Amino acid sequence: MKTKIAILALQGAFEEHCQVLERLCVESVLIRNLSDWQQPFDGLILPGGESTAMMKVMKDESLFEPIQKVIRNGLPVFGTCAGMILLDDQHLGCMDITVKRNAYGRQLGSFQIFHNIKGIGEVPMVFIRAPYVERVGGRVEILSTLDNHVVAVRQDNMLACSFHPELTEDTRVHRYWLETIVNGKH
Ligand code: GLN
Repeated sequence: MKTKIAILALQGAFEEHCQVLERLCVESVLIRNLSDWQQPFDGLILPGGESTAMMKVMKDESLFEPIQKVIRNGLPVFGTCAGMILLDDQHLGCMDITVKRNAYGRQLGSFQIFHNIKGIGEVPMVFIRAPYVERVGGRVEILSTLDNHVVAVRQDNMLACSFHPELTEDTRVHRYWLETIVNGKH
């Protein structure tokens, strides 16, 4: 059966995730409200943007609880930047991590580097007013650390990173998620 990925499209960089999936020949659907949510899909992407705005619209659209429930039940999920914030213990409470928002301060608001992710190799990482993980629970695997700060993590069905792989030409982080979590056995 063909893989179909839902992308939360309330705010932020959802269109760019769509384009990455298109390049990987994977079908995607945008989730804007509860009726979009009713169709079947195999995984969910929580994009970057503004986590406070996304939290508000998720609640206004009655999407908060359904999303929390399916992720807790094992739906494969990939959170980038604000999407990683949404997964932490202060927001959806799905991943056993605590994320510090806007963690790099104003001066380092945005930057790009090439850096290693375990299981993938060196990839371009675009940070935009990025968070990092300040607490990692016992079941969480750290996939990348930059200057002693955790910037990519995995726990069971969940992958999250501080940066924006969807804003580069490199599709390997999405491919890793699709191969090891969506289509693999986690
Ligand atoms: N600073 C944003 C937040 O706190 C995240 C930034 C991003 O997603 N690029 O939600």
